[in-house]
Amino acid sequence: MSAASSCWLASLVRWQLDEMDRAGVKLELDREATVDDILDVDPDHTIIATGARELRGESLPFGAGGRHVTAWEVLRGEVEVQDPVYIIGGDQTGAETAHLLAEAGHRVSILERSTGIALGVASAPRRFLLERLEDLRVQVHVVHEVMGLDAEGIRCETSAGTKRFNDPGTVVLAIGRRAEDKLAADLEDTLLKVTVIGDAKSPRHAQAAVHEGALVGREI
Ligand SMILES: Cc1cc2nc3c(=O)[nH]c(=O)nc-3n(C[C@H](O)[C@H](O)[C@H](O)COP(=O)(O)OP(=O)(O)OC[C@H]3O[C@@H](n4cnc5c(N)ncnc54)[C@H](O)[C@@H]3O)c2cc1C
Repeated sequence: MSAASSCWLASLVRWQLDEMDRAGVKLELDREATVDDILDVDPDHTIIATGARELRGESLPFGAGGRHVTAWEVLRGEVEVQDPVYIIGGDQTGAETAHLLAEAGHRVSILERSTGIALGVASAPRRFLLERLEDLRVQVHVVHEVMGLDAEGIRCETSAGTKRFNDPGTVVLAIGRRAEDKLAADLEDTLLKVTVIGDAKSPRHAQAAVHEGALVGREI
């Protein structure tokens, strides 16, 4: 996450925690909600805000062999990476993971199938992010669609034909997110009134989640 946006989100989260405290919202942490838990409570209205999960190697149409990790694992500090690092996917998650790793001194390349990177980032933080990636000598390869990932390396289709990168130390997947919608789907068979908001409805950005939360909160 770029410095500007992470600072904005941190202050938003602090404000939200204060507001929940002030309004007497009961918070239960470290507990996974299940259909049975919800049925036990028998709520008037259930709001599902279960977010999104990262797409992993199984989502690639050609499968993912060789050593690879996900960008979320890198961002959570769960995995060590070895140089050179290739990040597959250069939207917000891939670009910000590249930023983090390059700041830590790693040699990083991004492979992105479209014509630009970080296209989902707002223009001001995007400009800052692109400048930092350039300063940190992150190699950006656009119009590089990864078509194969195996023990030997990465195979891409480019406008100039097939290209291979056979030296990856670590391959990092940043290929998108999908809605974490299992709980919402399981609740469909009950008679409960349910509203799905935020990334659980469709992975987007924090403003959409906050906006939809505010709308349903006012409606209840
Ligand atoms: C790398 C990255 C950078 C981003 N940067 C930005 C940015 O700069 N600006 C921006 O606006 N957005 C950004 N986003 C998107 C933003 O994080 C999401 O859109 C936003 O967090 C969605 O909010 P949400 O409440 O719907 O879901 P989440 O924030 O994902 O929250 C869902 C929560 O539900 C919990 N949960 C799931 N299932 C259960 C269950 N069964 N029981 C109990 N709890 C459960 C999860 O543990 C999680 O805490 C970024 C996303 C990524 C991946």
